[in-house]
Amino acid sequence: MKLGELLSGKGRHVFTAHPEDTVLDAVRKLVSHNIGALAVVDSHGKLVGIFTERDVLRLCALSPINFATILLHDHMTKNLVTGNSQATMEEALAVMSEQRIRHLPVVDDEKLTGMVSQGDLVKASLEDMKFEHKQLTNFVLGKYPG
Ligand code: AMP
Repeated sequence: MKLGELLSGKGRHVFTAHPEDTVLDAVRKLVSHNIGALAVVDSHGKLVGIFTERDVLRLCALSPINFATILLHDHMTKNLVTGNSQATMEEALAVMSEQRIRHLPVVDDEKLTGMVSQGDLVKASLEDMKFEHKQLTNFVLGKYPG
């Protein structure tokens, strides 16, 4: 399955933040939306970074910092790994495990068109496997295409 198909089922809404937002604002967004990552976009809507719960943990490990006084710009990851709608789920999972990241912004024609997490990919892969299993079982039992 391609990422575009996965996003058609899951939805293409992406929770975003701005580089000038404070880390506290971003943490509140992560918590209130119950998500693990925010795409950081500039005033033109261009994807310029990503900020995830791992970044929050890293900041927590430093000596006490007031999250209300530090900006996302200085603590987001700017060197982005992205996918596109034509990429397959297998390709996305491979790059995510290789890069040790759990979130992949989907960018088409330089526009942010979605975000997939490792959880989304695992869930969709399981559904694919269940479907294939059912097809094969029906085939073996002579119920094809059942
Ligand atoms: P995660 O496992 O997704 O929570 O992220 C682990 C670390 O990688 C954090 O520092 C993130 O900012 C960074 N990160 C997550 N996703 C991406 C991505 N698609 N491109 C670049 N860095 C990322």
